[in-house]
This record gives sequence, C-alpha cells and structure tokens, in this order.
Amino acid sequence: MNDCIFCQIRDGKIQAKFFYQDEDVMVFPDIHPRAKTHLLIVPKKHIPEFIFVEDENLREKLFHTVQQIINQAGLKDNRYQIRINGGGLQDVDHLHIHLLGPITAA
Ligand code: 5GP
Ligand code: ZN
Repeated sequence: MNDCIFCQIRDGKIQAKFFYQDEDVMVFPDIHPRAKTHLLIVPKKHIPEFIFVEDENLREKLFHTVQQIINQAGLKDNRYQIRINGGGLQDVDHLHIHLLGPITAA
C-alpha cells in the first residue's frame, strides 16, 4: 500500500519516533496527541481495519503489546483509554489502536 501513511512510517518514508517496535508491531506517538500520552499501536502488516484481523497470533500479539505498553508508558494505574475506530469512523485505513492517558475529567 504505497499511499498508506502507516505503511510509509513502517518503511521509514515518513518519520516517527518509535516508542517500541519488533517484527510484527510498531508503536509511535500520535502526531496530534489528545492526551499527555497518546500512542498508536500498529501492526506492521497492512490490515485495513479491526474487523479484518484473522491471524490468531497477530490478535494475541496486539493484545499483549497493548498490555505491555500500558505498563511501559506509566499508565497502569493512571486512567488510560484504548480506542479503535472502524467502519468508516477511522481516518487512516491501516489498523491502529489508540492508547491515551491519563484521561482527565472534561
Ligand atoms: P483514526 O481516526 O484513523 O483512528 O486516527 C488516525 C490517527 O493518526 C489520528 O489521531 C492522527 O492524528 C494520526 N496521524 C495521522 N497521520 C499521522 C502521521 O503522519 N504520523 C503520526 N504519528 N500520526 C498520524
Ligand atoms: Zn498500511
């Protein structure tokens, strides 16, 4: 997917400051943070959205990565929120999990 922003980040064509990455997933800050910490947890494989995750291992890996990043980002006891947009609500058609925190009262 040549025109996909997150594929371009994966391929080093668009800059991002990686918080974590391995062969399957990458984690980097959202360019427009909506909380003090706002990270995107993204599979390296181009999967258009949540509903299309079919690989059990990847599903497990994503879940586990989110748990680890919550700890590493210091959000464990700190009012975090996980958000996945899909079904047309998303702006970027490459699956990503938003991790935000601490969420303060409006
Ligand atoms: P969505 O609405 O698709 O769930 O969220 C997409 C997110 O990607 C938005 O919060 C937006 O700020 C973020 N984003 C869009 N382009 C870039 C980019 O080039 N770099 C980074 N780090 N984040 C981006
Ligand atoms: Zn992509």
